Amino acid sequence: MDIKQHNVDFSSAGQLAPQDMAQLAELGFRSVINNRPDGEADGQPTWQELEVAAKQAGLSYHYLPVVPNQMTPELIQQFADLYRQVDHPTLAFCRTGNRSTQIWEASQRLTNGIPTQAQTTEDQQPQKRSQIVIVGGGAAGIATAASLLKRDRDFNITIIEPRDTHYYQPGWTFVGSGVFKPEATRRPMEQVMPSGVEWIQDAVTGFEPDKNTVQLTSGVKISYDVLVVAPGLKLDWQQVKGLEETLGENGVASNYDIKTAQKMWENTQSLIKGRAVFTQPPMPIKCAGAPQKAMYLASDYWQKHNRLGNIQVEFYNAGKVLFGVPDYVPALQHYVAQYHIDLHFSHNLVEVDGPAKKAWFANSETNERIEVAYDLLHVSPPQTAPDFIRDSSLVNAEGWVEVDQYSLRHTRFANIFSLGDVCSAPNAKTAAAVRKQAPVVAHNIHALLNNLDTTAYYDGYGSCPLIVERGKVVLAEFGYGGKLLPSAPVWLLDGKKPTRLGWLLKAKLLPSIYFDLMLRGHEWLATPLIQNQQTDLATKEKGA
Ligand code: FAD
Repeated sequence: MDIKQHNVDFSSAGQLAPQDMAQLAELGFRSVINNRPDGEADGQPTWQELEVAAKQAGLSYHYLPVVPNQMTPELIQQFADLYRQVDHPTLAFCRTGNRSTQIWEASQRLTNGIPTQAQTTEDQQPQKRSQIVIVGGGAAGIATAASLLKRDRDFNITIIEPRDTHYYQPGWTFVGSGVFKPEATRRPMEQVMPSGVEWIQDAVTGFEPDKNTVQLTSGVKISYDVLVVAPGLKLDWQQVKGLEETLGENGVASNYDIKTAQKMWENTQSLIKGRAVFTQPPMPIKCAGAPQKAMYLASDYWQKHNRLGNIQVEFYNAGKVLFGVPDYVPALQHYVAQYHIDLHFSHNLVEVDGPAKKAWFANSETNERIEVAYDLLHVSPPQTAPDFIRDSSLVNAEGWVEVDQYSLRHTRFANIFSLGDVCSAPNAKTAAAVRKQAPVVAHNIHALLNNLDTTAYYDGYGSCPLIVERGKVVLAEFGYGGKLLPSAPVWLLDGKKPTRLGWLLKAKLLPSIYFDLMLRGHEWLATPLIQNQQTDLATKEKGA
């Protein structure tokens, strides 16, 4: 159970099962509010089944279904009335906990006399308007804005981004191995915002695609002509029991979290002997090579310090292969042998006990649960689309924003585009992919707003510089279907082999390519294939 406590009286959670009710009672809850309409998914328990279980556990139980994006003022009032009457502490749940949280927050505003989001949605015109609204000021949001302005300085663009710091996440692997200081990977958000763009420092909470509006946490509503959805993905630490509590302590760290990436470097240096365990969750994840890069760089350090004889390195991978594109596997296997790494496939991390230094894995082949003691644990967390995206009407069955994989245009809402980690295109989720996607989206928005009959196509390019030792990189570059898409001729840089040039590119050039070119709309080596609207799929694939 993934319970989020908001105050002493109120908590929220994702879907509950009947057997969870007894545990809720043990935790001290006195009532449960079910906000998830029956029948949203196969296998979902009905509200009556949950009611029986809740009552057996001594909890009072209330069913107030909230349909995604239909949070009316009446419904908020009903929730406020119900919330006043129920026994506290109470726990409300829906599919992810997001709807319950939103309706509770709205009911609190109502109780405090502040107009609710839904009231403003229903009763007032949008408080703000922008020609192009971009959700997220990460790699994808900033690069798209910059590429749009390269095409037309007069575009009126608003970026909604809650953070005041922008991160170059590909640099975090280097923070975890002592090559970069954390400062090298961050810039103040205002510094990377393209000039001419309006930045609203707030978070989007919901979408009304039929009304061309987005809603913000502040309750403000913004209307648009074109929407770009690019809020990245969610690192779902809570899926692994006990992980959040111990992350950064007890030998546990992750390069996926800048706060503990440096801890990973400290842990690597201080390990003299013992068992070092590295994990990889189910795909898709951002930078599918990052879990291995952490392992190879640590192993390289231990080998160069003559410790590898006393350190057993183990890789527990929820997937069935070392890397999804077979051409790069031989080079990786070479390093697996060199570092004497034990590979375990189909093993998904499910629980960590930090103080006891133990981890448990579910083996999807045998259905066994395996206990592993460790001295150092590097975790790559499970990853999903953010809750407010999964709860919206923009998504496919897996919860990602549903786009045509070539044009990156939404399949159902013609004025919505999506790119970066959150979109459904089956490419490798990387900043390298964003470098090629942003010009495609910018071109297609420019064409849409100017009635031009041309479409730009994305070929699925993604790149993963697989750092196999300090000073050498296997530079994987590929597109849809695993087609190899090298940027340099083989005589200069053979991506299937470990090379020093690959390392120079990754360590010296790519940060600058990111900050100084990509985020500024310079589309170096990123010109998309452009055709007229009649281009058929075969042509697209030929171009890809
Ligand atoms: P992000 O860059 O994560 O940006 C999303 C933005 O949306 C954030 O600023 C966030 O604050 C904002 N946001 C979130 N919620 C909301 C909301 N509700 N409203 C508004 N804004 C919101 N890529 C490579 O190309 N090469 C590599 O070697 C590489 N290595 C990596 C190693 C690690 C350890 C990690 C973590 C990533 C790595 N990546 C690498 C992946 C790369 O960083 C991502 O693919 C890329 O950042 C995706 O860009 P994005 O804009 O989709 O998401």
